[in-house]
Amino acid sequence: MATAKDYKTVWANCLKTIKETLGKSNEQIYKEWFEPIVPIQLEDNTLIIQVPSEFFYEWLEEHYVNLLRRTIRYELGPKGMLRYSIVVDGGGISDKPITTTLPWGSKQPTDNKPKEMPFNINNDNDKHIPNPLIIPGIQKVKIESQLNSAYTLDNFVEGECNRLARSAGFAVAKDPGRTAFNPLMLYGGVGLGKTHLANAIGMKTKEIHPKLTVLYVTSERFLQQYMEAGRTGSTNDFINYYTLVDVLIVDDIQFWANKASKTQEAFFQIFNHLHQQKKQIIITSDKAPSELSGLEPRLISRLKWGLAADLQVPDVDTRMAILKQKLASDGIEMPENVIEYIAYNINTNVRELEGALVSLIAQSSLNRKQITLDLAKQMVDKFVKSTSREITIDYIQKVVCDYFNLPVDSIQSRTRKREIVQARQLTMYFAKKMTKASLAVIGLQCGNKDHATVLHACKTVSNLAETDKQFRYWVDDLEKRFKE
Ligand code: ADP
Ligand code: MG
Repeated sequence: MATAKDYKTVWANCLKTIKETLGKSNEQIYKEWFEPIVPIQLEDNTLIIQVPSEFFYEWLEEHYVNLLRRTIRYELGPKGMLRYSIVVDGGGISDKPITTTLPWGSKQPTDNKPKEMPFNINNDNDKHIPNPLIIPGIQKVKIESQLNSAYTLDNFVEGECNRLARSAGFAVAKDPGRTAFNPLMLYGGVGLGKTHLANAIGMKTKEIHPKLTVLYVTSERFLQQYMEAGRTGSTNDFINYYTLVDVLIVDDIQFWANKASKTQEAFFQIFNHLHQQKKQIIITSDKAPSELSGLEPRLISRLKWGLAADLQVPDVDTRMAILKQKLASDGIEMPENVIEYIAYNINTNVRELEGALVSLIAQSSLNRKQITLDLAKQMVDKFVKSTSREITIDYIQKVVCDYFNLPVDSIQSRTRKREIVQARQLTMYFAKKMTKASLAVIGLQCGNKDHATVLHACKTVSNLAETDKQFRYWVDDLEKRFKE
């Protein structure tokens, strides 16, 4: 049945699934890495897709081979295969593209590398990041810190939620590499101030020790640079560059989870070198080291060497203080009861708190309305509704697995153990009920099952909930948890 489909339809279906699986938060990745792909042929069970460059092909293989594999097999059946066709510029003499095809899952350097960079490492927001790979006389180079100077310790409001992290950060800035907090790991959910605090520690360090080299990098950029280095054969330069700094800050290290194993290895080397030289390492992540599954175990064990300090949701007093500080720094006045109203009602994270404040100010100035409690109420209501996020399948998996005390990845396993089958079925049931994901995507995320299995799971759960008291209790109890 599948082979009767034409290649365009097959790829269009794949794209739909991929887009849905990646979700809104990865829309950019979808746009940059999947949209440019052109399907060109379907031979038996093999779909041939054309990608713009070898680098592109390598990147896809490094990061998304599993997603591609699952999606293709879903569309074309278990024998589904993918081949890449790569456009290689023939040395600049002829602009006629030479096409090479490479089998899928066999990432390998070829002799016919395009010379120019298909992907410009210095080409996005933070343009002035020097590319470590092209700096001559690397030993003498002055490394720009890449810190965001708007983020300081002075404007990082202290509260119960961040006391340990903030004071450890201050201690590190006074004496980088020489305290027990090496590495210093800052972790917590989105919008709770990890990036702010990490930058602030860097800024403070520079203020106290102007001669030290501080470098801030996001894990995503680090990965890009590493890939680029690999492509141009300058991995050693890359590693050397990073070993020159006195304080290295890597933001959002969870980005490497379940991928980028070579990048992690390079970082591991850099880490060891810096640590041995008593240089400071600061890492941020959305999870505690012990929960960072998907990173190399030996790297995780290094992360546990120093101090892991968490950032929590600020309590209402701290939220008030943060709002007041933002207002003061912008020179804006606002009635106390309005500030209170916002602080009490936006309790997710600081980014949303700030967002609400900014919207309110914008509302009042655009419509020339006074900032009153009523206006704040209207705005906050809208804000809370528009930001109440949709539950994700990942989250459902986590809640169900926690509930039954199972490891989260058990849902992905092939086992037929009753408790795991049950957890998987419950996950599918709640995913169907509480997300907009299609049956296909739910199946894909829950152990690579097809849509019929998901449908069957949903029926089984409904039936069991009617006939089995214990099961009914689980379903109700879980449902409550999702609504909390
Ligand atoms: P994360 O990196 O954890 O997602 P950010 O560091 O980007 O969060 O913080 C989100 C926003 O909230 C930033 O504008 C930051 O300045 C602000 N913020 C977070 N925590 C505080 C704090 N304790 N005091 C002042 N501003 C804060
Ligand atoms: Mg951040």
